[in-house]
Amino acid sequence: MTQTYNAIVVGAGVMGASIAFHLAERGLKPAILERKVTASGATGHSSGLVRMHYDLAAESELTFKSYQQYFNQWKERVGGECGFMNTGFIQINSREEEGQLRGNVANQQKIGINTSVITAKEVKELFPDLATDHFDYAAYEPDSGYADATLTTNSFIESAKRLGATLIQNCEVTAIRAAAGKVIGVGTNKGDFDAPIVVNAAGAWAKHVAGLADLQVPIETWTHDVAFLHRPPSLGRIPAMIDLALECYFRPEGSALILAAGVDESMRNDLPDEEDQTPTPAFVEKLIDIMVQRIPKIEQSGLHSIHVGRDGITPDQRAIYSGTDLDGFYLACGLSGTGFKTSPAAGASLVELILDGAPKTVNITPFRFSRFAEGKLIEGEYGYGNIWK
Ligand SMILES: Cc1cc2nc3c(=O)[nH]c(=O)nc-3n(C[C@H](O)[C@H](O)[C@H](O)COP(=O)(O)OP(=O)(O)OC[C@H]3O[C@@H](n4cnc5c(N)ncnc54)[C@H](O)[C@@H]3O)c2cc1C
Repeated sequence: MTQTYNAIVVGAGVMGASIAFHLAERGLKPAILERKVTASGATGHSSGLVRMHYDLAAESELTFKSYQQYFNQWKERVGGECGFMNTGFIQINSREEEGQLRGNVANQQKIGINTSVITAKEVKELFPDLATDHFDYAAYEPDSGYADATLTTNSFIESAKRLGATLIQNCEVTAIRAAAGKVIGVGTNKGDFDAPIVVNAAGAWAKHVAGLADLQVPIETWTHDVAFLHRPPSLGRIPAMIDLALECYFRPEGSALILAAGVDESMRNDLPDEEDQTPTPAFVEKLIDIMVQRIPKIEQSGLHSIHVGRDGITPDQRAIYSGTDLDGFYLACGLSGTGFKTSPAAGASLVELILDGAPKTVNITPFRFSRFAEGKLIEGEYGYGNIWK
């Protein structure tokens, strides 16, 4: 028998969970259809950095609102836990990019973000175990850190369920059903579901799901290797850090480990369901070499474990939050390896677009799907170029 809902969200990663929560908060009874289990895609492998430094003001604003209105007061705003840890955040760029770094920090200050440009000497005073070679200045965000992406997703879903949403796992969407230019529901391995609103939040699989509605969405698979290192016993406080001078990022992982990753070898043309979950052989050796340059005490440490995650990535490495030519069919995908931290405010803004015709929390118009057809790919105001290689 066909089941009927106010809205259907395809995918129970953090994006689908945020959208379902915000739809339910507005009084709708959405169904979240997930082909496996919650957070089994990119979200369950996310490094969880919550930082506000971007080269695009709209992305900084999405993270700022996500931090200010959600991560920083999760229990009161959403309920449950998100595991936010305030470690502080440092962004380092190459010396040649000092102008862009300063321009972006100035833009972020205008938004209200607590950020400033500090010297390498000041970085050393804050975090004495960091080596301060290869840069003169850094952006410093005292309020930022990291959160637990799986916990965040499950909290969103549990709160959405309390508000009337339904989660159906092991339910794969195999058809998008439409009539007279309007979406009317989906087909799945568990039968048909009717709804006037369908949101594609299927991560690296979103291109396939959009194809079910005859939409060509330019999303490729972004593959990302992450290492967990044992924390050297004598290591002091370290921040969450993106180090574009050495092309890596890292953060503490609880009290015993350090999470670290590089920014290259991400564009491997894998399929989203690629069997091979093993990072490339050179990955660990290269990453540890880099990490020792930034945190020399890592030399006393060693590898704990590794994992691989996959996200959907667009040509300008920015998300798509958008309606489509098919009335009632929306896209929240192509999060391009950076969509965890923005998911609360992005979900709120997309739901405003769906229900009110315009976003209010953050203007997500730059992330419209039509930008690809218009040839208006997004560029940062003080652009760093594509981060992922
Ligand atoms: C290794 C790694 C590290 C990252 N680090 C960070 C970070 O530090 N900070 C940050 O902000 N972002 C980070 N990201 C990016 C961020 O985690 C992702 O952008 C975000 O989690 C994507 O969420 P999502 O809900 O769009 O996709 P996913 O989490 O992939 O969820 C999509 C879901 O859709 C389901 N699905 C697919 N097809 C169907 C179908 N046909 N029917 C039903 N369900 C379907 C999948 O099973 C999956 O559960 C990282 C990503 C990875 C992979």
